[in-house]
Amino acid sequence: TLKQAYKPLNEQTVVGLAQKLKLFSDYQNIKVNEIGDGNLNLVFRLIEADTGKSIIVKQALPYAKVVGESWPLTLDRARIESSSLIKSAEFAPEHVPEVFYTDQDLALTVMEDLSSHVILRKGLIEGVKYPHLAQHIGTFIAKSLFYTSDFYLHPFEKKELVQTFTNPELCKITEDLVFTDPFYDINTNDFPSELKEAVSKLWNDTLLKQRAASLKYKFLTRAEALLHGDLHTGSIFVTETSTKLIDSEFAYYGPQGFDIAHFFANIALNHASQSFHISDNLRREEYQSYLLSVIKDTWETFTAHYRELWKTEGVESATKLPEFEEEILNSIFTDMIGFAGCEVIRRTIGLAHVEDLDSIEDFNGQIELKKRVLKLGSDWVKNAERIKNIDEFITYIRSV
Ligand code: ADP
Ligand code: MG
Ligand code: MG
Ligand code: MG
Repeated sequence: TLKQAYKPLNEQTVVGLAQKLKLFSDYQNIKVNEIGDGNLNLVFRLIEADTGKSIIVKQALPYAKVVGESWPLTLDRARIESSSLIKSAEFAPEHVPEVFYTDQDLALTVMEDLSSHVILRKGLIEGVKYPHLAQHIGTFIAKSLFYTSDFYLHPFEKKELVQTFTNPELCKITEDLVFTDPFYDINTNDFPSELKEAVSKLWNDTLLKQRAASLKYKFLTRAEALLHGDLHTGSIFVTETSTKLIDSEFAYYGPQGFDIAHFFANIALNHASQSFHISDNLRREEYQSYLLSVIKDTWETFTAHYRELWKTEGVESATKLPEFEEEILNSIFTDMIGFAGCEVIRRTIGLAHVEDLDSIEDFNGQIELKKRVLKLGSDWVKNAERIKNIDEFITYIRSV
């Protein structure tokens, strides 16, 4: 095929692309919708009218539009995203959309249409339970950490993957927006004046800032395993029986506790928000217990599966030492708590908020809740070393 220089697709040219790739049989009857939110990437859905056959085309734009300004952002993230989906499909094809075609010059991925699924964040805000979610996420994270790490790969192969997934520009976004900006008076932050006092407390907390700097340093330096890099509940597509991870453009080699931390932090934020989303006390308590059970079950599934993989497929001789296994799992756990704390803080006062909290209509209620959420995040960052197990971690969420 002829290589084409980069150009953003539109509803006409995307059909031309589908035709070139022979994705359908009748190109007169393709319905096209752009379904992305238009901030970072274009997401087109193409449906063939008679057969109902559909596909998704996701294309990166050469900039990120944030708060009315635009800044240039590498198109290479499309390569990262499609490579990560393809890598994940090697060990967990059931948890990622199938990739049909990629083009690095056009910065696009043609993939399976998951419109039968809903975005997890939306489902959680509506109070829907997903009975297999914890099992699926725990298994996925165990497999992706293990199969991309030095505990499984030859060191040459692992280092090649580290190169493939070198993603400096997207990592820089995380370094700034998650680990730096929320802890200082920097203009990317976004919070109402009613939170100013609570936020100043964070900015004056030297221990908090030191712990955040230490977590950032881990994020910068620890190439342990291939991460999704942005595993919030808006990057997970679910049905009653199926769980799929999408939007892995932040993928890179980083510290093992990072992805599970982001998943837990976003569940914790939803848990906090439910006092405003579900008014019936019994129903709310029941749903919040469900959310806590998701965290507990995900952690237990993750650790059990990860231990099993070490035992049965570990290639590094040290994977036969039970004490070393404990050391690694303990460090994943402690890192997880700190990373979860940073995520909770930045989703409350940083550039990118979560709908779970911001959709709360009772403004004063929202402010008071956000103060307690900031305390939660700050406690996690500062006390990470002292929290001994997943039940203690969960106790913090319950107390918000
Ligand atoms: P961005 O990086 O811009 O956030 P996402 O990959 O998260 O892009 O996609 C944005 C939205 O597009 C998703 O929230 C979802 O609604 C839709 N979308 C993305 N991928 C698919 C897919 N494979 N099937 C169906 N819808 C999708
Ligand atoms: Mg989006
Ligand atoms: Mg994205
Ligand atoms: Mg997204």
